[in-house]
Amino acid sequence: MEIKRGIPGSPGVGIGEALVLGSEEYRFPHKFISLGKEDDEVGRFERALESCEAELRSIEEEAAGRGAPATVTRIVEVHLMLLRDPTLRTEVCEMIRKKGLTPEHAVSRFFRRYNKLFKGMRDEYFAQRYADIQDIEKRLYRQLLGERREDIRTLTKPVIVVAPDLTPSQTATMHTDKVLGFATEQGGETSHTVIMARSLGIPAVVGLRTIVDDLSGGDTVIIDGTEGIVIISPDEVTLRRYQEKREAFAEIADDLDTLIRLPAVTRDGHEVQLFANIEFPREIELVRRYNGAGVGLFRTEFLFADGTELPTERSHIEAYKTAIRLLEGRPLVIRTLDFGADKLMVDTGAGKEANPFLGFRSIRFCFDRLDLFKPQLRAILRASAMGQVKILFPMISSLDELLRAKAILREVMEELDGEGISYDEKVPIGIMVEIPSAVSIADLLAPEVDFFSIGTNDLIQYTLAVDRVNERVAQLYQPAHPAVLRSIKRVIDVGRETDREVALCGEMSGNPLYTTLLLGLGLEVFSVTPTVITEIKRVIRSVTIEDAKEVADKAMGFARAEDVVRFLQERMGEMIPEIFGARGRGRKAS
Ligand code: PEP
Ligand code: MG
Repeated sequence: MEIKRGIPGSPGVGIGEALVLGSEEYRFPHKFISLGKEDDEVGRFERALESCEAELRSIEEEAAGRGAPATVTRIVEVHLMLLRDPTLRTEVCEMIRKKGLTPEHAVSRFFRRYNKLFKGMRDEYFAQRYADIQDIEKRLYRQLLGERREDIRTLTKPVIVVAPDLTPSQTATMHTDKVLGFATEQGGETSHTVIMARSLGIPAVVGLRTIVDDLSGGDTVIIDGTEGIVIISPDEVTLRRYQEKREAFAEIADDLDTLIRLPAVTRDGHEVQLFANIEFPREIELVRRYNGAGVGLFRTEFLFADGTELPTERSHIEAYKTAIRLLEGRPLVIRTLDFGADKLMVDTGAGKEANPFLGFRSIRFCFDRLDLFKPQLRAILRASAMGQVKILFPMISSLDELLRAKAILREVMEELDGEGISYDEKVPIGIMVEIPSAVSIADLLAPEVDFFSIGTNDLIQYTLAVDRVNERVAQLYQPAHPAVLRSIKRVIDVGRETDREVALCGEMSGNPLYTTLLLGLGLEVFSVTPTVITEIKRVIRSVTIEDAKEVADKAMGFARAEDVVRFLQERMGEMIPEIFGARGRGRKAS
């Protein structure tokens, strides 16, 4: 049994067999061979070895033929040497014959040992050998699996996915009945991969730094997404304990379901609006199931997540029509395309940027690509004639940018006027407040907008200079940092003074630990992952505004994030033990 700690991604417990994805997504269909098939499987492995050797020899010949540098042929020689190493053949054949493992699993076990050994070495020579070993391993899989290589989208049985990293689009296409949980080496608590996992209700632990080399496909794995723990090959006692925890989690979810039809009001009758964040119109089924007030953030870039289609007016309008129909009169806040950074779903043409989060993303990309931006604005406007639609511009950092976005919107309105196409002339316009400069000049931006939506996921990373997807600096990513709390307070205050609605749609609004504090700061509109609506509602219904103000006043007095978190944990534990006590399912604060 091995216990590994990472970053709590998406809450819940998942238990199952590991499916280990390398960067090339190999999936091994079976772990054990049928009795009596040993000779066949050993033969398959030996043929794979021969094919790899033949492949390498032809690379060598081709390289020599075109006069490639000597280093190229030397690398091939090293690979051939590794491949011919008798321990590889002997140990793998023994695992097939004596343990009944399939050649794929036996190869994976063999290389796992060597990977671990080499990966930890800092020496450049050994680091290079690690890359060589990985290369050989992949070459063998390719030969062994041949046509049987499968896609994560077409899993045939439930698994726990373990990978160096997953893209948001890979997560978006996961089937919840087949992926019981996932664990990745990279990523932070607000990476879009994690946000997707929360939407889908898939337990996840990210930022483990190493895990892929620590297990083989088929090993039993426990994912505790609430605590950020992964357990490899658990013993009987641990397995039972986590099976119980998984059931307790499901029971709490059933309890929370009793709140679905109740209003989101504080104990003293103060009404709060609980909206949902979505990536796809189909998630509105969940918004309805959990009785959300509407959609507070539609991340439209996910419509094009699989990269097969470039956004067009037609594809936008189809999605918006579906969303409006499913919402049955509830509001829909459509955010314009926020491509770039970890949401590299289209080729932005920027090439590889040194600092993609500070680079050519979001509204900056849209200004450059009016051929993509304008059709979306047309579609949003057309949709505004069909239902309650609001428009939200992301990544606004200055008044100029806001005015430019509005000018383009006006141009599009004029085009529609010319074509006699109707739309809501008073469509509310809002901006994401997710860059510190927008916080500072919120008072200057307010006259130009109808509402603000605070995007803490980015606001935290830009305020604290901490990459939101980099596990190495994850401990510095602190929602409770006084600078972040002061920024949130400032925007809420400006909203109150200028009579502009302020929503908060970053992941912080879906973490129950912060609900009372945010209420106390005066937040009245929350937009959260649909599956946590009832959890947040439960906190709202458990406190009075008076309590919340007292909590906020105290929290704002601390100089360090960890003091704020400790205070909130203690105070919330006293105020609402059923959520923050031992059996509560509140996610850990970072
Ligand atoms: C945010 O930054 O808080 C936000 C909601 O937007 P995204 O997570 O899509 O960047
Ligand atoms: Mg953002």
